[in-house]
Amino acid sequence: MAKHIFVTGGVTSSLGKGILAASLSKLLQSRGFKVTIQKFDPYINVDPGTMNPYEHGECFVTDDGTETDLDLGHYERFLNVRTSQANNVTTGKIYQTVIQKERRGDYLGKTVQVIPHITDEIKRRMLLISESGEYDIVVTEVGGTVGDIESLPYIEAIRQLRLELPNQDSIIIHLTLVPYLASAGELKTKPTQHSVKELTTHGVFPDIIACRTERHLSDEIKSKIALFCNVEKRAVIESADADTIYDVPVLLQEEKLDEIALEKLGLQSPQDSNLTNWKAFLHRLKHPKKTIKIGLIGKYVELQDAYKSIHEAFNHAKAQNECEIELENIHSQYISSDNVDLKLSHLNGILVAPGFGDRGINGKLTAIKYARENNIPFFGICLGMQMAVVEFSRHVAGIEGAHSTEMNEQTEHPVISLMADQKDIVDKGGTMRLGAYDCALKEGSKAHQAYGEILISERHRHRFEFNNDYLEVLTAKGLKATGINPATNLVEIVELENHPWFVGVQFHPELKSTVANPQPLFVDFVEAALKHKEVLVH
Ligand code: GLN
Repeated sequence: MAKHIFVTGGVTSSLGKGILAASLSKLLQSRGFKVTIQKFDPYINVDPGTMNPYEHGECFVTDDGTETDLDLGHYERFLNVRTSQANNVTTGKIYQTVIQKERRGDYLGKTVQVIPHITDEIKRRMLLISESGEYDIVVTEVGGTVGDIESLPYIEAIRQLRLELPNQDSIIIHLTLVPYLASAGELKTKPTQHSVKELTTHGVFPDIIACRTERHLSDEIKSKIALFCNVEKRAVIESADADTIYDVPVLLQEEKLDEIALEKLGLQSPQDSNLTNWKAFLHRLKHPKKTIKIGLIGKYVELQDAYKSIHEAFNHAKAQNECEIELENIHSQYISSDNVDLKLSHLNGILVAPGFGDRGINGKLTAIKYARENNIPFFGICLGMQMAVVEFSRHVAGIEGAHSTEMNEQTEHPVISLMADQKDIVDKGGTMRLGAYDCALKEGSKAHQAYGEILISERHRHRFEFNNDYLEVLTAKGLKATGINPATNLVEIVELENHPWFVGVQFHPELKSTVANPQPLFVDFVEAALKHKEVLVH
């Protein structure tokens, strides 16, 4: 039987429950335990796939094609394990299951209620992942903040589960905020007291309280929190602001979070904690030898979370290349041929981000043309690749008016068009081409050099594709299809001849980058940007 660690949050959102859960899991993994993490999101959407990135940040896609919360990205990046649809449950999914059962008549005439039917379904899902017997420890993060109406059924489910699970088989870690009031010159414990009180009114008593803080917690503050919140003083853990999220496991280990959690779960570590590789990564990340400038061009750039996995893939690639990347967020909507030189000429690399719809498309096309003509390393991801095909078709292959049918349904030259199996789809949720597909690389291509193997697998999230009717003419003009799906012949990668590094990918390479395995194309793109800088300097 797996042991369970529940992570709840109080006071405010955005305290970093996901990072806390991922960091603790990393520490437990480093001691030889098999750990997985799951996230329960209280919103009513079935998944975040239909949400605008402004609402909930990036939508993370798993190998099995589930559109999930971006915290799953952190779990994969920290633990270097793959998650699946079982790792992310939403209130929408819970209700969908319960309502389907009700329609089938499974409840035998009973009134269907939040307690016990919704809570039973939550509990079933909370235990599901541990039933495989694959894991020693399952960490369950409950999204939202204690006190939200939406979170209540989850808190109630945890209360019930703790009674049903054998003693010592579960613990609760509650993450709160201990704010610093500059005018009083003091850290304040009251919000934490209130948040724990809220939790306890629902019959849930935390075993460990993690306190997010920008100042160190004194002994006195820890004693106070322990006293008022009914936990041992050593179970009051400081979760200090960190330079990078990758520092958090190390900081939490200094606070002995893993030791205390294991002791409360009655578990002995199979081995001493080994964070050697993690610390080596941190060292490389923090001691760059060179600096390059890369432009991230997209339409949600003002929101940090919208391109989370791209930012993190750059972090992994920069540690690998021991360089600093000044990542400039550039709004595609404001790029035009009049200002493109001003906006992009100082960059060593240009990445055009994934996206949907028409907004900012001309800016993306202008940026791609600029990168192509000025030999600046270019990386196009999904929509970025599709627009690279459009730009090349128009300006190099002379196919006037070429476009994607996503932006212009009537275009005479649909070089990017809706995939055949998408044509009759009406529902928006979960219906794109999603998840992992194989891709065969052309020997000697940039992609092949980067991956060092011929057959790769990457994750997808799109409805439109490269139109193979134009393959011959575009290839003849110098845009090479260097990655092909072996089963369907779909073009997954395009590369430009006679350019230092110009690669567009239909898939989302950023989703599989981890600390232990930095994504090869990101590593190679950064290397190309470093070379670009050298060429500029000499
Ligand atoms: N909008 C494009 C499509 O659906 C690209 C999607 C993306 O960038 N993820 O094919």
